[in-house]
Amino acid sequence: MEQLSEISLKGFMAPEEGRRLYELACDASRRGPCLEIGSYCGKSAACLGMGCKKAGGILYSLDHHEGSEEQQPGQEYFDPELLDEKTGRINTFPIFHHVLHKLSLTDTVIPVVAKSTVAARLWRTPLALIFIDGGHTFEAAFADYNAWLSHLIPGGFLAVHDIFASSALGGQAPRCIYNLALDSGLFNELPMTKTLGVLQRASTDEITARARQRWEEINH
Ligand code: SAH
Ligand code: MG
Repeated sequence: MEQLSEISLKGFMAPEEGRRLYELACDASRRGPCLEIGSYCGKSAACLGMGCKKAGGILYSLDHHEGSEEQQPGQEYFDPELLDEKTGRINTFPIFHHVLHKLSLTDTVIPVVAKSTVAARLWRTPLALIFIDGGHTFEAAFADYNAWLSHLIPGGFLAVHDIFASSALGGQAPRCIYNLALDSGLFNELPMTKTLGVLQRASTDEITARARQRWEEINH
């Protein structure tokens, strides 16, 4: 983790959130591989990847690398350095790849360059951590949630970035999918770190006990 402060990383993640991702990835790696949706320029991948590396795990880092809606030319989060002059389109892959090399993470982080729902289509590998930080429209965030949730093993972590308590503070799509997961009864809520929400998938026994309690409430 200390290595991270030696290189400057583009991105919108607070140091405390990065440290939490590092710890979660370290813990999850004892149970299986981790997946992040939204690699961008490698900031969160560096934190998750370092945690995976420490514990001998693997991180799949998924992004089409063409930027989200709000990162396109003329939009609020547009960064001209990310524009590929030949194509006139955003391309975050070169910087992402450079970060992996610089931090010696190429044997730990597996880039998946694809649209989230396309990569999910025939995915078969159970996951011990899913970090959702892709598109922030309702449609994009819900598509990620819907496509990946079933791959999370019991005890696995679902982390969602950019959860804001109100729309005055920020977009509400991440908060919406976080609440959907919580309402499903399949998760236990862990403490949040700034805007990083963390849920842990409950065991089959816990889910069964919850279902039985609901059943009894209905019948009394
Ligand atoms: N997690 C990064 C920031 C991610 S920004 C960090 O903290 O450093 C969001 C990223 O999601 C962008 O790079 C964008 O290209 C990607 N993205 C948006 N929609 C996507 C989709 N449907 N499939 C794959 N990647 C997507
Ligand atoms: Mg984010």
